[in-house]
Amino acid sequence: MSRHFDAIIIGTGQAGPSLAARCAAAGMTVAIIERHKFGGTCVNTGCIPTKTLVASAYAAHVARRGAEYGFVVNGDVHVDMKRVKDRKDEVAGRSNRGVEEWLRGLKNCTVIQGHARFQSSRTVVVNDEVLQADNLFINVGGRASIPAMPGINDVPFLTNSSMMDVDFVPKHLIIVGGSYIGLEFGQMYRRFGSDVTIVEKTPRLIGREDEDVSEEVRKILEMEEIRVLANAKCISLAKHDSRIAVGIECEEGPPEVLGTHVLLAVGRTPNTNDLGLDRAGVATDQRGYIIVDDQLQTNVPGIWALGDCNGRGAFTHTSYNDYEIVADNLLNADHRSVSDRIQTYALFSDPPLGRCGMTDAEIRKSGRAALVTKHPMSRVSRAVEKGETQGFIKITVDAETKQILGAAILGIGGDEVIHVLLDVMYAKAPYTVVQRAMHIHPTVAEFLPTVLDKLEPFV
Ligand SMILES: Cc1cc2nc3c(=O)[nH]c(=O)nc-3n(C[C@H](O)[C@H](O)[C@H](O)COP(=O)(O)OP(=O)(O)OC[C@H]3O[C@@H](n4cnc5c(N)ncnc54)[C@H](O)[C@@H]3O)c2cc1C
Repeated sequence: MSRHFDAIIIGTGQAGPSLAARCAAAGMTVAIIERHKFGGTCVNTGCIPTKTLVASAYAAHVARRGAEYGFVVNGDVHVDMKRVKDRKDEVAGRSNRGVEEWLRGLKNCTVIQGHARFQSSRTVVVNDEVLQADNLFINVGGRASIPAMPGINDVPFLTNSSMMDVDFVPKHLIIVGGSYIGLEFGQMYRRFGSDVTIVEKTPRLIGREDEDVSEEVRKILEMEEIRVLANAKCISLAKHDSRIAVGIECEEGPPEVLGTHVLLAVGRTPNTNDLGLDRAGVATDQRGYIIVDDQLQTNVPGIWALGDCNGRGAFTHTSYNDYEIVADNLLNADHRSVSDRIQTYALFSDPPLGRCGMTDAEIRKSGRAALVTKHPMSRVSRAVEKGETQGFIKITVDAETKQILGAAILGIGGDEVIHVLLDVMYAKAPYTVVQRAMHIHPTVAEFLPTVLDKLEPFV
């Protein structure tokens, strides 16, 4: 015997719950299955808790700079990690409970807790029960990658998930991986009071970014006495008395670095290895990502994959956008495609990096004629007034169409201001629309017209 539903959704990440609500509202019977915490990565071990911790770290940082702003802190600023963690747990816990309560309150929606596996292209087994549906949606997300590096089984290490349980300030945190997750944890723990070393195997941090962006971010981190060891060719772990040695064989710096704790932040692995995809006939690529078309349908009609597990995005907003694309195609006959969206994301360091569109390397590769403009945040009055002048604004436009190709805003408010440019890109309007717009003073956004006055040939 099996239970039949119109739709089965596996996973309650950033796409599944909204899709469940939309399908249920359209009168479909829905089963949504979650094996661990409601809300998935973003809510429990990703965006929400980390940005809550970043906020605590920022507050401590500003307190230490009190004298610059004209106030006195009596004594050193010490961080009480138990209270920092309590605050984080409260914020993330509220979201986690909110998702569960929302789903359980939905008419036509059955919530099932357990690990789901496909039995066939139309059936899923969970807790020994067989569920059947004509439409199946996979939103299983990913987890921290644990590479088979030498010594990995000999020492304890942390991941973004276990970092959520840390209620103390590590004396010396070594972070393996100098990309987005590693940098956010690095700056945050430095501000909590840890010594922090970031070990990166490639020549520069956030290697997907433009070189000038990587360099500036490194400078900002080093100003806070975060040690960056790039070009770490052969990373290994070993016990060293009560400490942990991370072997690096760097071209710069010593052959190993000793710390008290190690965080591995070396990428993500999709949760597709224990899903019975072979029994459903669903194809994956070599790295385990589910292969989907432009409407996010897999090679098996009636099975869709949304969120990080399809390899078409690695963000909450891409997962949520996946939900919108699938729901609009299925329920609104609105033909939306993944290829219509413009790349955008932020690095939530302080100051943040807001990014949209093409990188310099991508523009160069495209061979198109372009113009570029760059403006230091030290010449943005809002940044000066706030005493936060690190970073720059960089915008690239197509020399012929005048449309914006890409932008990096590394600086105060960069994660918000970037949307001014992003929305103009979606409108396919020329940059002159921004250039001629009147913006509010004093803001960072008010400088965009001025920055665009200085376009030069992109080389
Ligand atoms: C430290 C960190 C910080 C981040 N910060 C940001 C940020 O600031 N901004 C941003 O946009 N993105 C951020 N991300 C990325 C973001 O968290 C993810 O892109 C986002 O959560 C989308 O995930 P998802 O919808 O694909 O699934 P997930 O949120 O990963 O959820 C998948 C769910 O499926 C469940 N599941 C898996 N397998 C099964 C199964 N077989 N049966 C039943 N249930 C199953 C899991 O338990 C999980 O709850 C961050 C990630 C990390 C790790």
